[in-house]
Amino acid sequence: MTYSQQEISCDVAIIGCGPVGAVAANLLGRQGLKVVVIEKQVTHYPQPRAVHIDHEMMRLFQSAGVIQRVKPDMAETDGHLHIGADGGVIRYMGTVGAPRPFGWANDYFFYQPELESHLRAALLQNDAVNLILGAEFTSLAQDDNEVTIHYTAKNEKCQVRARWMIATDGAHSPVRKSLGVELDDLNFEEPWLVVDAEVEGPLNFPEFNGLSGSADLQRLSVMMCDPSRPTTLVPGRRNHRRWEFMLLPDEDDIEMMREDNVAELLKPWLKDNNYQILRASTYRFHALVAKQWQVGRVFIAGDAAHQTPPFFGQGMCHGFRDVANLAWKMAAIVNEGVDASILTTYQLERESHVRGVIGAAVEAGRYICELDPKVAAQRDATFRDQAAHRRGETAADLIPPIREGLILDGTPSAGDRFIQPQLSDGRMLDDFIGQGWRLIALPDPAVSLNSIPTSSITAVSADDLPDKGAVRKWLEDRGAEAVLIRPDHYVFGTGKAFDLIAACNAQVFQGREALKCH
Ligand SMILES: Cc1cc2nc3c(=O)[nH]c(=O)nc-3n(C[C@H](O)[C@H](O)[C@H](O)COP(=O)(O)OP(=O)(O)OC[C@H]3O[C@@H](n4cnc5c(N)ncnc54)[C@H](O)[C@@H]3O)c2cc1C
Repeated sequence: MTYSQQEISCDVAIIGCGPVGAVAANLLGRQGLKVVVIEKQVTHYPQPRAVHIDHEMMRLFQSAGVIQRVKPDMAETDGHLHIGADGGVIRYMGTVGAPRPFGWANDYFFYQPELESHLRAALLQNDAVNLILGAEFTSLAQDDNEVTIHYTAKNEKCQVRARWMIATDGAHSPVRKSLGVELDDLNFEEPWLVVDAEVEGPLNFPEFNGLSGSADLQRLSVMMCDPSRPTTLVPGRRNHRRWEFMLLPDEDDIEMMREDNVAELLKPWLKDNNYQILRASTYRFHALVAKQWQVGRVFIAGDAAHQTPPFFGQGMCHGFRDVANLAWKMAAIVNEGVDASILTTYQLERESHVRGVIGAAVEAGRYICELDPKVAAQRDATFRDQAAHRRGETAADLIPPIREGLILDGTPSAGDRFIQPQLSDGRMLDDFIGQGWRLIALPDPAVSLNSIPTSSITAVSADDLPDKGAVRKWLEDRGAEAVLIRPDHYVFGTGKAFDLIAACNAQVFQGREALKCH
C-alpha cells in the first residue's frame, strides 16, 4: 500500500474533533505544542447532546483562551431540583445566594453545536494546530519513539507521526477498538426520549409542595421522579428547552419519536407558548468505563474512555478533565523536559475520579427511573428524611478530589479543586496570577518568594492578592502556610513552601529541580 506525500509530524495527534478533542487541541496549542487533529466529518455534530457544564469547565475555557468566545452563549442557572411521586420536593441542589468559591456559577446551560463551533473557530486562530477535516482514522502503529497514524482524506491514504496520540473519537471509538481495549459495563441501561425545542415564554409547572422560596423553576434543571413517566426539564440558553422522557417498558422508539406523540408529552409543560421542535431522538443511557486508558503512546479520553447517564450533566465534563490532565503533563514534558513517565499517572488520577461521579449518576438514575409506585413512595420518604438533616447541598459536592497521583498525599486539601476568587478589579484569580504551577504563601519574613525562579512556577504572597483575604482564609482554615496549585487547578499540596517545592521536584520534576529554591 502506498501513502501520499501527506506525511506530517507533530507532538500530539488528536483523533476526533468533538468537544473533547477540540478542548484538548486548544489547551495544547496554547502552550505551543504542535498538534494535528484528524476529524472524520467536515462540520461539527449538528444536534445538541450536552446541555450542562459546571464552574470547572468555565475555568478550563479560561486556560484554553476561549472563555470570551463561549461565555456569551452560556446561561447561568440555579441548580437541580428532584420532585417525588406525590409532586413534592425530595432533593434540592440549589445555588441561589450560595458562595462562588471557584469564581463562576456552579451550573451553566448551553447549546452544544454552538459551543463546538466556538471551540473550532479558536483552533483556526492557532498556528500550532492543524485541523484536518474529512479525514478518517484507519489504523495505528507505535514504537519506542513515536506513533504513526494512518488515515484517509479525499480518497487518499495519509499518515501522521506523533510523539503521542489522544483518542477523542467518541463512544464507538475506532481507536479504542483497534487497540482491543474493553469497556467495563457498570450495569445501567435505560431508554430515554430526548426532545429539544425553541420555546417562547416560560414553561408551565404545577405547584410543587416544599419548594424553597428562592427556587425559580424557569432556571432549574427539574427532575420529575414520577413512576408513571420519569421526566427531566432543562432550561437551555435563550429559548432553548430540553425535555428527557424515560420510555416505558412497552414503548417503541420510533413510535415515541413521532411528532404527535412528542406534542402529547410536551402538552402539560406548555400553556400558549409558541414553540418549534428542533429534534426528538431516543438514547440508551449507559455507564461504561474503559479498562485501559493508556496503551503505550496512545491515550483514550472523553466518551471513548467512559460514558455516563446524564443525570448530573457530567459526561462531557469528564472528557474536559481528562484532556486538561493530559495537556499540562504533555506540555511539561515538551516545554520543560520533564520525564515522560508522569503520563502514567493519567489513568491513575482520572479513572477513580470518573468512576466516583458515574457512581453518583447511576445511583441517581436508579431512583429516578423507579417505575414501581410503592418503591417510589418509600424512596421519597427516605429522601425527605435525609434532606431534613442535610443543609445546602449543591451538585458541586458530587465531584470528588483526585485521590492519588501527582499530589502531596496526606496534606490538607491535596487533590481538591483550588478556589478562584474574583478580585476587587473584577478579574478572576487565574487572570491575575496566570496559568501553570502556582505557589501562594502567607508572608514569611524568613523566606523570600523572589528566591523561587519564575520559569516553572509563579510564586505569590497571599497578601498581594486583591481578593478580600479569600486565599489567606483558605490557607488559615487548613492550618497551612502555602499551597502549590497544579496547572489543571487541582491542589498539589499544602504546607510549608519549601516542603511543597521539594515534594514537587521529587514527584514531578524527578530531581531536575526545575522548581529550585535557595
Ligand atoms: C442526551 C444526552 C445528554 C447529555 N447531557 C450532557 C450534559 O448535560 N453535560 C455533559 O457534560 N455531557 C452530557 N452528555 C454527554 C456529552 O454529549 C458527551 O460526553 C460528549 O459529546 C462527548 O464528546 P467527545 O468529544 O468525547 O465525543 P464526540 O462528541 O462523540 O466526538 C467524537 C468525534 O470523533 C469523530 N470520529 C469518530 N470516528 C472517527 C475516525 N475514524 N476518524 C476521525 N474522526 C472520528 C466523530 O466524527 C466526532 O466528531 C450528554 C449526552 C447525551 C446523549
